Amino acid sequence: MPTSRKRTKRRRKIRFPVLILGICLVCAVLLLITGLILRGCGKTEQEHPGSETASETPAAVQIQDSSDYSQFVGHKIRTSEQCELFLVSADGMEPCGHVAAGALFDISGTKEGGYLEVSDSPFCIPGSAAEASDRWYRNDTNLIPYAEDLTTNDSFTLSDEAGNPVLTSERSLTFPVYVKPGEDNRYGIRFMNGIYYVDASSVKEVQAADRSAEATAQEVPVLMYHFFYSEAEGGTRIDGNYVEVNELDEQLNYIHEQNFHACTMREILYWMEGRANLPEKSIAITIDDADPSVHQYAMPVFVKYGLHATNFVICGWQPAEMPYELWEMRENGLELQSHGFLTHTGGCSGMGHGGLLLCMDHESGVEDVKRSFDYVDGGFVFCYPFGDINDNAENIVRDAGGKLAFTTEGGRIHPGMDPLALPRVRVTGGNGLSAFAASIG
Ligand SMILES: [Zn+2]
Repeated sequence: MPTSRKRTKRRRKIRFPVLILGICLVCAVLLLITGLILRGCGKTEQEHPGSETASETPAAVQIQDSSDYSQFVGHKIRTSEQCELFLVSADGMEPCGHVAAGALFDISGTKEGGYLEVSDSPFCIPGSAAEASDRWYRNDTNLIPYAEDLTTNDSFTLSDEAGNPVLTSERSLTFPVYVKPGEDNRYGIRFMNGIYYVDASSVKEVQAADRSAEATAQEVPVLMYHFFYSEAEGGTRIDGNYVEVNELDEQLNYIHEQNFHACTMREILYWMEGRANLPEKSIAITIDDADPSVHQYAMPVFVKYGLHATNFVICGWQPAEMPYELWEMRENGLELQSHGFLTHTGGCSGMGHGGLLLCMDHESGVEDVKRSFDYVDGGFVFCYPFGDINDNAENIVRDAGGKLAFTTEGGRIHPGMDPLALPRVRVTGGNGLSAFAASIG
């Protein structure tokens, strides 16, 4: 018995490897055949680029790039070079113009073939032309469109706020009108959740659009903050200009919960000029002096609620090169405007609080204010130091290119007011939420 069992075992041992070998052989042959077929296909595609293969794919598809550009989704990119612009159509991608080099785009997705979808638009750009950007602030507009649409000429250029070209389309397109032309002779349309511009000379026609009427703002409170502190970190309220960080949180939470729209100064300007509509519950938030406590305590709270604010920077008190803290605030939606360069000082005894701008000679004043607008990189809004204003100060700001200017007088703003003498609503630390709510509600 033991011998026969051994023999059976040995016979099985011999049969098993033979079976494995057989299977392997069959597999190898199959792999070889598949490989040959695949190689054959590859060869065909390589030898005849763009002929037969092209006829099998939709003619509209222009590029075939298999790179993964998903890292750009949800981010802002910069174009490294001028590149083609594509319109997303039912057939695929249609080339429709070009994109300027160095333009910034918010990217919302990718499309097969190596395309990046430009957010809130019908356009795509090639991923190969995109590079990571050092800017991250994303567009967000509060403006309400007019019941009008504009149709562009067959060719038009879309520019950013500073007038830099972003893209040129060789197709006539129709957009709702968000901003009507002013001195700049350009229309504002919505693109990438922000306002971009088409020159009025590139608009073929403007026609009425069936758009439901939304209630618009008649007047807007502009809040005035100064300094912030944290009780938990041992800070105290030196005077009413100091707001505790938890009190700020409570106030911004109220603004957020009550669905107020915190507007940018550009939006306020267009509304004051009668060129755009703001939602009924609009507000603007300003912070004077750009004290370090704004960056340290207030910025994170504004970011938490996604609210815009405006910093009035005493530019001559800042390092010659704009510090990272200011840049970071701007990238987080706390825009930078001017509180003078070196005019946040006394010098005019017997006049108001004695702020220098009251009696400064016109030329030096204009130079100072222009310098401050340059420092904040295109400023157009001024905040009078100490709130001191007279004809001399107002003329200086006007001639320096100021479009809006704020005092410390109490009140709300509305179109028709002197845009260079605008009142605000002071926020006094420790006053409680009901007083705050009453001041803006
Ligand atoms: Zn000040």
